[in-house]
Amino acid sequence: MCGACSRGTETVAYLLIECQQWQREQEVFYKALDDLGVERLPRQEVALEAQLLADPRAAKPLLKLIGQVQACEIDQQAAEAARRSDW
Ligand SMILES: [Zn+2]
Repeated sequence: MCGACSRGTETVAYLLIECQQWQREQEVFYKALDDLGVERLPRQEVALEAQLLADPRAAKPLLKLIGQVQACEIDQQAAEAARRSDW
């Protein structure tokens, strides 16, 4: 289950396309891909994550997005731990 929104299965594709929690980051990500000229085929042909991993230009924006997600999850875990220790 997605740790950010609890609405879907937490896969790379879900995170990159569907998770509402990351909408702003996704927009920045796809804008960066467009600026770099990274092509994206319709999802049915080749999985998006496979396309992105195959294009070295996509690596930097992809790592940035992953870093933002991880930073947020670490924040959430810290907040959760702080809440628990308040008891
Ligand atoms: Zn989510």
